[in-house]
Amino acid sequence: MPSTKKDYYEILGVPRNASQEEIKKAFRRLARKYHPDINKSPEAQEKFKEINEAYQVLSDPEKRKLYDQFGHAAFEGAGAQEQVNVQDFPSLEEILRDFFGGGFGFDFDTIFERATRGRRRTGQRPVRGEDIYKTVEISLEDAYRGTTVEVDVDREVECSVCEGRGYDQSKGMRVCPACGGKGYVEGGNWFMRVRETCRTCMGTGGIYEPCPTCGGNGTVRKREKIKVRIPPGVDTGSKLVVEGKGHAGRFGGPPGNLYIQVRVKPHKIFQRKGEDLLVDVNLTYPEAVLGTEIEVPTISGEKVKVKVPPGTQHGELIKVNGYGMPRLKGSGKGDLYVRANIDVPKIGMLDKVFKDGRKLEKLLKELNEVLPKPERIKER
Ligand SMILES: [Zn+2]
Ligand SMILES: [Zn+2]
Repeated sequence: MPSTKKDYYEILGVPRNASQEEIKKAFRRLARKYHPDINKSPEAQEKFKEINEAYQVLSDPEKRKLYDQFGHAAFEGAGAQEQVNVQDFPSLEEILRDFFGGGFGFDFDTIFERATRGRRRTGQRPVRGEDIYKTVEISLEDAYRGTTVEVDVDREVECSVCEGRGYDQSKGMRVCPACGGKGYVEGGNWFMRVRETCRTCMGTGGIYEPCPTCGGNGTVRKREKIKVRIPPGVDTGSKLVVEGKGHAGRFGGPPGNLYIQVRVKPHKIFQRKGEDLLVDVNLTYPEAVLGTEIEVPTISGEKVKVKVPPGTQHGELIKVNGYGMPRLKGSGKGDLYVRANIDVPKIGMLDKVFKDGRKLEKLLKELNEVLPKPERIKER
């Protein structure tokens, strides 16, 4: 039965008298274009199957001799033809390793990485992604309890179409136009020719079409909501890091980090000094003189009873242990300071409160006569 199969020489694009070296070269060139490792289209897979089969025969002097004599019929006897499966293909790496194994003096793995991950053009080392800085504003209550915030971040993320490779997988590799697939270019002058690794394809002989989605960058910009856990005790200026949530790396590099700078909004009643809080309370003149017990709000929402000792001065601080902010480093909490603010009564107001305000006024005047005058100016 006459064979309808394509001629093996034709498949590899070599003349019938091609040397083993020429056959090998042709195979490598075609492998870079059609190998299933890089070219995912089904036609390419079929094509590579053909190429591989042709190569298996023509690269073996015994089989080649049979083929030259009998054509495809040489292998069509029962069981004579070796079944060639996709799984039996040498990997592209093996094919290229063989090619580069001849001591060209450059690092094969780097080149292979570039060849298969789309690291086209100039020698790009893996580059770590850039960091992203964001500021979040939270309330003092949230700083006390700790909270989780959602941060909108515009990140460069790996392109999902090409999986960060940057090249169009459907088109596969094509022969490098700069070196015609040789992987090197020749330079030098009239008496000396110098071979240099082709910079366009980094010596691989093939280049890729850039991915249409990311234009060859391997990354695309994407707005993401990132949840950030804020621990209790943070203060304005606290920095948090979310590892790996910066921009995607390039050429196989790791992603950067997301840094969160915290700003705690001023509170309506509490002032903060490190771990301690301060609250101003208004006392009447008699309360300050006689002493009292008052209820004071705390940042947790709980109210605490605070003893105001007799003779409390304006501006005096009363310390309430353990009602401050949680310590970011270490355990426990700071303290709450209650600052006395003494309301000095006005004579007119006394008139309204007492039936005989004049009597109190007289009493105060008497008191003024007998009280020793304070030191007006005190040196610190
Ligand atoms: Zn892409
Ligand atoms: Zn090239």
